[in-house]
Amino acid sequence: NASRLLGKTVLITGASAGIGAATAILFAKAGCNLILLARRADQLEKVAEAASAAHKSAAAQQGGQIAIVQLDVTDRAQVSALWSKVPQGLRNVDILVNNAGGAHGIDRVGDIQDKDIDTMFATNVLGLISLTQLLIKDFKARNAGHVINIGSIAGREPYVGGSVYCATKAAVHAFTSSLLREVVDTPIRVTEIQPGMVETEFSIIRYRGDKSAADKVYDGLQPLTAEDIAEEIAWAAARPPHVNIAEVFVLPANQA
Ligand code: NDP
Repeated sequence: NASRLLGKTVLITGASAGIGAATAILFAKAGCNLILLARRADQLEKVAEAASAAHKSAAAQQGGQIAIVQLDVTDRAQVSALWSKVPQGLRNVDILVNNAGGAHGIDRVGDIQDKDIDTMFATNVLGLISLTQLLIKDFKARNAGHVINIGSIAGREPYVGGSVYCATKAAVHAFTSSLLREVVDTPIRVTEIQPGMVETEFSIIRYRGDKSAADKVYDGLQPLTAEDIAEEIAWAAARPPHVNIAEVFVLPANQA
């Protein structure tokens, strides 16, 4: 029931593109307030405008406040200083969507660049942990809240050339499962969404800007859209308080 989202405040990392941007627009439509985080401020502005238009067109009775914060999730000092950049009225976050991340290269183990290893672990794992640490303290103090982490099928079904990326997503899975058990006696909910192939900038980044190589990945199958994943995230968030969607695998119909 989407009305359960009315007036909720949702913090989304990696909100400047792809799944994060689509999620921002969907939550705005559902009557939520938003805090949108990413490194590209100009892109965040565009997403905020689209989210605001979606909120208006849905004529939602609540929500509609949007704060954007230019932030690199790998920078602990920036994460610690987050609240100083968020208006007072938006500091009681109800839902954290830990989405920022990506794959940098599709290389065999001997060929992976050190900087790509560092970027993937710093973003996909350490960044997600930093944001969770910041929010979970609040959630525990308020005895409420929902952490939604974006893992990947890659964390469960590793593939050749994806070793480090797959390892980061396996780490997201282990971290999320542990957190779920940590808060099991509280109303705090913890969800992991594990998508298969989604057509976003992800594939272009993975192939270091080579769009034709990036597109080839989708040969013979229809990839998911960012909106497909946003719907799963919003669906998990809109369950009644006694229901926790622990894990969701969502794959293109012709990906196994
Ligand atoms: P995109 O590349 O389209 O979006 C990635 C987002 O993460 C961007 O908004 C980017 O913003 C942000 N981001 C990257 N690094 C940082 C950083 N250091 N600090 C803050 N924000 C950052 O990819 P997707 O939307 O596809 O990916 C979103 C999530 O979904 C990722 O965790 C990815 O691993 C996961 N996923 C994607 C799949 C796919 O096939 N697309 C499949 C399974 C999982 P900016 O550059 O402005 O900082």
